[in-house]
Amino acid sequence: ERIRIEPFMAQTIQRMEDLYPEFAFRMKAEGTGKVVRINPLHLEQMLLIIIENAVKYSAEHKQIDIRCYEENKRVCISIQDYGIGIPTAEIQHVFDRFYRVDRARSREIGGTGLGLAIAKNLISHYQGEIAITSVEDEGTRVTLSFPSVSS
Ligand code: ATP
Repeated sequence: ERIRIEPFMAQTIQRMEDLYPEFAFRMKAEGTGKVVRINPLHLEQMLLIIIENAVKYSAEHKQIDIRCYEENKRVCISIQDYGIGIPTAEIQHVFDRFYRVDRARSREIGGTGLGLAIAKNLISHYQGEIAITSVEDEGTRVTLSFPSVSS
């Protein structure tokens, strides 16, 4: 199914704003009309996993920046939080099933460690990629990318 990414993101963000009114969600879309081919339920599930993590692991700075852009013929969606971050040595493990960063602040927060494993599995069906960069105590950015199809 063809999805126009910008209205889809705007809708998703609106739902997250309703769920988490204490958070400021900012969306920046660069360019218009980007289209990807994906089952909307799958895209939605990935976004919920990632945005809910951003909310869960942001104790103080309750702002989330979402950016849609195109790079090398791929449509990218990045979700940046300003929360507790992930230690560099552990980033490689966060996609493993049941893996949770072993840190008091992360452990206190409920979770199964399955979310990112599910997101990674879903995205693999669409030639998609998921990447994480993070700095401890500064924040985390998760970037999804998909082949862009012409609208
Ligand atoms: P759930 O399955 O309920 O989503 P979870 O959040 O523990 O539980 P994942 O989404 O797979 O599971 O994330 C794995 C681990 O990666 C988390 O336990 C957390 O330690 C770390 N993590 C994921 N996203 C973030 C983030 N935005 N900021 C800081 N740590 C994160």
